[in-house]
Amino acid sequence: MSGSGFDHAVRPPELRERELWFAVAGSRVLLIEEEHGARFPGEPLLPAETPHYLGALGGTHCFAYEIDRELEPAAGHAIADLRALWGRVPEELWAVAGKAVQIVDWDRTHRFCGRCGEPTVRVDADRSRKCPACELSAYPRLAPAVITVVERGDEILLAHGTRFPAPFYSALAGFVEPGESLEGAVVREIREEVGVEVDEVRYFGSQPWPFPHSLMIGFHARWAGGEIRIDPEEIADAKFFPKDELPLIPPPISIARWLIDAAVARRG
Ligand SMILES: [Zn+2]
Repeated sequence: MSGSGFDHAVRPPELRERELWFAVAGSRVLLIEEEHGARFPGEPLLPAETPHYLGALGGTHCFAYEIDRELEPAAGHAIADLRALWGRVPEELWAVAGKAVQIVDWDRTHRFCGRCGEPTVRVDADRSRKCPACELSAYPRLAPAVITVVERGDEILLAHGTRFPAPFYSALAGFVEPGESLEGAVVREIREEVGVEVDEVRYFGSQPWPFPHSLMIGFHARWAGGEIRIDPEEIADAKFFPKDELPLIPPPISIARWLIDAAVARRG
């Protein structure tokens, strides 16, 4: 599950044969347009004064830097939003671009200390920003969220959320509360959103989800009781669908789809 061979080291080696540079403007990244797609440049196309080292993909060392959000790309260059870029570049590079966007966003939004308001200083050795006045450190934000497909015999429970951008049905998802276990979050979210009880919560896999800084942790669970009663704030509709009569489901970009596909494959 996105278990690509990316090495998330925080410090670059001195000798680097190959590099890739991710110039970030908000949730968009700069690319070189080519006849059959686009690629990330092997050197900074714009001034990169304080780049962030992201890690290495094979022997290719990846860096991120922030550029002006209003920038108009030069001829032959393009600025693409991360979501729109999916499918246009190899998946492992899309994941690195997602990391680039998150690291640059964290760096930009933690320039001042959250406790005393003094300007912070970047510490690359452990990827933090530290306050010289009160010594508070801020690290990149990561919000764990559980996402679950509930199975009942040959049916799976899917829902259409009130905030979904498209008319598909998906797995149920929600953020983990401080102090809560992942399994506890699965049981609570399903109970809150659709009023159903589940058991046999089984870990499936995970996916970093850079919109804006989630870590999606996927589970399958078994229906243990209760009829569907939706929370109308969150859920527009929810149903148990026969595995061979699914509604429109999310594209294969997301773990929601991988969870659904894995559940359907167990049919019979
Ligand atoms: Zn401080």
